[in-house]
Amino acid sequence: MSEIKTLTKPVPPGGVIGIIGGGQLGRMLAMAAARLGLKAAVYNDENHAPAFQVTPLQIAAPYDDRNMLTGFAEICDVITFEFENLPSDAIAHLASLKPVRPGQRALEITQDRFSEKSFVQSLGLKTAPFVAVTSVQDAATAFAQMDGAAILKTRRLGYDGKGQSKVTSGAEAQAAFQHFKGAPSILEGFVDFAFEASVVAARAADGSFAAFDPPENIHENHILRRSIVPGRLSKAQSDEAKAIAKAIADALDYVGVLAVELFVGKDGSLAINEIAPRVHNSGHWTIEACACSQFEQHIRAVAGWPLGDPARHADAVMENVIGAEADAWESLARSGALHLYGKREARLGRKMGHMTRLKPLTK
Ligand code: AMP
Repeated sequence: MSEIKTLTKPVPPGGVIGIIGGGQLGRMLAMAAARLGLKAAVYNDENHAPAFQVTPLQIAAPYDDRNMLTGFAEICDVITFEFENLPSDAIAHLASLKPVRPGQRALEITQDRFSEKSFVQSLGLKTAPFVAVTSVQDAATAFAQMDGAAILKTRRLGYDGKGQSKVTSGAEAQAAFQHFKGAPSILEGFVDFAFEASVVAARAADGSFAAFDPPENIHENHILRRSIVPGRLSKAQSDEAKAIAKAIADALDYVGVLAVELFVGKDGSLAINEIAPRVHNSGHWTIEACACSQFEQHIRAVAGWPLGDPARHADAVMENVIGAEADAWESLARSGALHLYGKREARLGRKMGHMTRLKPLTK
């Protein structure tokens, strides 16, 4: 195995941050890099990418194209990601050329729901009950271990509810597994939560850590509708969420921003749904409501800069602008801080932008 490159000193202003993935997260990362006098280079597998509109340094090529990845690495000082599903050997290839943050281990663990949840449990943290499913027979056996309702999820490549199916019998679990064409999956107990929340936090290479206040998140059709901060989390739950993010980030020797999605139980307990090894939709409100946004924080961490202050100076509600809702951009622009991502087509369920509304700080 080839040697892994590490960053020995901070990337100075004028340096280039490589971002794999050119969606809205890559776009907002590139804009945050620019604010710090850093340049962003974006690699995306399609020609039209929201992030391509904000930086001239761009490559459109498949994510497994070794030559293009090499060419990309050559112009970067450090490389990071806006999405976690890059093939593992592509990550290893990049890491042999330039420092990659967060590192390969964090990405590999979080690419697979089974390894991610096993890792979380190994830290003594709570998840929904889950069982690996690799055959039709497994699906029925796994269902028998659940408490009435469960969700079959493919181990890899699921987001916004894709590759997920709620099931209420062994036969339904088997049918869902067949519907996923036998893709390795997990069956997860259905959590009757009080509400959902998340914590977005950053860890620097020297181990310093900074967490944003955890928002309450409302989903509709499996897609994040809004994040509210402060939400219904108590101070103790907020502190616990931040401690969970720190335990995960430390155990992964993580560098950058990560998000942990949480179920808040009716008994007040926090269970971990998912780790996102990247900036996260539920952290978009930090652009307006914090001195240093999640995007700037991520750039600071991967570039080896000191972390910024995550303190919140306002209450905030972030609402996604989904699909055709973006057609109302003119009235949306009147009612808050509007972000549009420059996507060409307003497809159903597609995140076209978001809106943040601020209110004076209450707690
Ligand atoms: P995920 O892609 O795993 O983040 O799931 C997307 C959304 O589906 C979550 O934010 C929840 O609203 C819902 N969901 C996922 N897993 C469960 C579960 N085990 N129990 C109840 N709801 C779930």
